[in-house]
Amino acid sequence: MPDAIGLFDPDRVAVVGGTDSEGSIGRAIMENLESFDGTVLPVNPKKEEVLGHTAVSSVEEIQDPIDLAVVVVPPKIAIDATRELGAQGVTNVVVITAGFGEAGSEGATREQELSKIADEYEMNLVGPNSLGVMSTPDNLNATFGPSNAIPGGLSFMSQSGAFITAVVDWAIDQGIGFNDIVSLGNKAVLDESDFIEIWESDPNTEVILGYLEGIDDGRAFIDNARSVTKETPIILVKSGRTEAGAQAASSHTGTIAGSERAYEAGLDQAGVLRAENVQELFDYAQILEGQPVPDGDGIAVICNAGGPGVMATDAIGESNYDMASFQDETLETLQDTLPEGANIYNPVDVIGDADNERFKAAIDIVLSDKNVQAAMVLASPIAVLDYETLAIDISTLQEKYETPVATALMGGERIQNPADTLREHGIPNYFDPARAVNSLDALMTYRDNTQIEYETPEPFDVDKEKVQEILETATKRSNRLGVEAMGILDAYGIETPTSEIVDSPQDARAVAAEITGDVVMKIVSPDILHKSDIGGVKVGVPESGVKDAYEDLLTRAKNYQPDARILGVQLQEMVDLDTGIETILGMNRDPQFGPLLLFGLGGIFVEILEDTTVRVAPISEREAKTMIGEIDSAPLLRGARGNDPVDETALVEAMQRLSLLVTDFPAILELDINPLVVSPDGVQAVDSRLTVDPDKL
Ligand code: ADP
Ligand code: MG
Repeated sequence: MPDAIGLFDPDRVAVVGGTDSEGSIGRAIMENLESFDGTVLPVNPKKEEVLGHTAVSSVEEIQDPIDLAVVVVPPKIAIDATRELGAQGVTNVVVITAGFGEAGSEGATREQELSKIADEYEMNLVGPNSLGVMSTPDNLNATFGPSNAIPGGLSFMSQSGAFITAVVDWAIDQGIGFNDIVSLGNKAVLDESDFIEIWESDPNTEVILGYLEGIDDGRAFIDNARSVTKETPIILVKSGRTEAGAQAASSHTGTIAGSERAYEAGLDQAGVLRAENVQELFDYAQILEGQPVPDGDGIAVICNAGGPGVMATDAIGESNYDMASFQDETLETLQDTLPEGANIYNPVDVIGDADNERFKAAIDIVLSDKNVQAAMVLASPIAVLDYETLAIDISTLQEKYETPVATALMGGERIQNPADTLREHGIPNYFDPARAVNSLDALMTYRDNTQIEYETPEPFDVDKEKVQEILETATKRSNRLGVEAMGILDAYGIETPTSEIVDSPQDARAVAAEITGDVVMKIVSPDILHKSDIGGVKVGVPESGVKDAYEDLLTRAKNYQPDARILGVQLQEMVDLDTGIETILGMNRDPQFGPLLLFGLGGIFVEILEDTTVRVAPISEREAKTMIGEIDSAPLLRGARGNDPVDETALVEAMQRLSLLVTDFPAILELDINPLVVSPDGVQAVDSRLTVDPDKL
């Protein structure tokens, strides 16, 4: 990406289509640029001057270099203008004009043209269909929104321009300030990944926030965000629009792992904080901007009323914090300082008649305890307590100890000024104690995200050619493959039980004779992928019953679907399900994030139990381990009720090998190993089902 400094920090801004015509967008932008510290150059063939700025009649006539061009002319002219800007060497362009990708196929073609021009001239192009950009350090407001943001450390990107105008307006009342704001528009060129990169190296950006409806290239975003979040927190609000990547899915993984789960997993893997709603977005942003991260998990609560203290304690129980247990000397000092009836244990209750002095002393003592790494101060209004003084005391003590603090000084009108005082010191105040805990919890999540060591996925010794060969052969019949393609798992080192596909009862008997013990027999047909649903799986067949079972399986298949293509019957060694647990390991492709791995409790009840977890592939060893620990049935795998724990190392390796397989073969669109039987002796893939796109082979 070329240098994008001019986008938010330009000296000279050209407005292509800048005008003074009442009610036009071109005028709104010119008016918003009134306060800009640099030079504004309107480009308009019909005007010599626009709102006091001398105009030029065309882009070609621009004399001095332009750092940023804002384009507001109709779509067709906008394309020409952008090309001319490119030819003039202007690299930062914001296309406000609508009527592109969002406006049918004609618009989409126009948008492609715009991207091509941007490519050719290596332009940083924002939009089209953008509200514009804002940057407070230079008083730059190159948007057509109604208000100017106040300065601050938040840099904000939004896929909705309307949301920006609403947020900026509201934030002024809340005292929330911004550094840069960008309306991403249709993201023809620059997208969310580019902006997190731009802001990573911007010293004025303390926190990156985003409202996104989709992520263009999920994998690129994950890789990019991982490095950015180490320095600058990223918070995204999830929007409802992602849920339906609703392609008809034939695999379990396809039905279970919807786009919404891909988005959640992807953002987690990216180390991004997800906000559930707009309130959380700004709660998290403010606390991350204003407070340090805790260097431990212990939290203390100091209050003057029991009720709110209990509410806070309940909320803490659901958070990642633990109620800190105070050191002896803390308890002694509190005992000496607080009156009879006060609670010296956490949550500390200074009781209802506490004045400012007592409250302050208690906070000081508690914050000095090294078991306290975060604190909450709660207060209800009483006559002897002055909120403003309390706010100043809390701020001073927070700065003294550098412990993250959030407050719930509760009340109405009387809280306005004290809340402002606290905010100036970066301390958020809430009416609801639970909301304060939730915000403090975000600090912890962020801290944990920055501590993750990302490893590169391991390489394994695999037989790629073999997989290619099996897939090519199998897809000649059908794009949906069943157990006839199990060999691809073998080729990638995922163990499968001894199996063979036969096409006569005689051969079946002969194969069964070579397998120790009873066998499992399964119908093999690309048209019957849910075999047990039609009685197409027979477990525990003795050698003497093999011929009859063979005939029976064929009859069932033909009854179910007379024209089904039958490839034969698979004979398989029995896998011990007394010591083994049926799990599912699968993959489906998300349009934004690519291959999404699913792991969970398997067998025939997988969709009913829905105990699964997902990650974007490729996954590392650490991520595979986390996935195993995440499912509700994890204790079952780890030796609940006196059972031996399963071979987790083998399971982790199988997960990584599958991750490699689906990364190596984009042609595999969906894949289920169900069951993958996991036991103390290792793992075995017993059944497989996949969908392949032969064009990608
Ligand atoms: P499908 O999922 O198409 O119905 P599977 O091959 O998964 O067919 O078989 C269904 C169930 O039969 C499995 O979930 C498992 O409980 C049992 N089963 C299948 N193969 C074996 C085997 N080799 N050993 C033990 N049980 C098996
Ligand atoms: Mg199965």
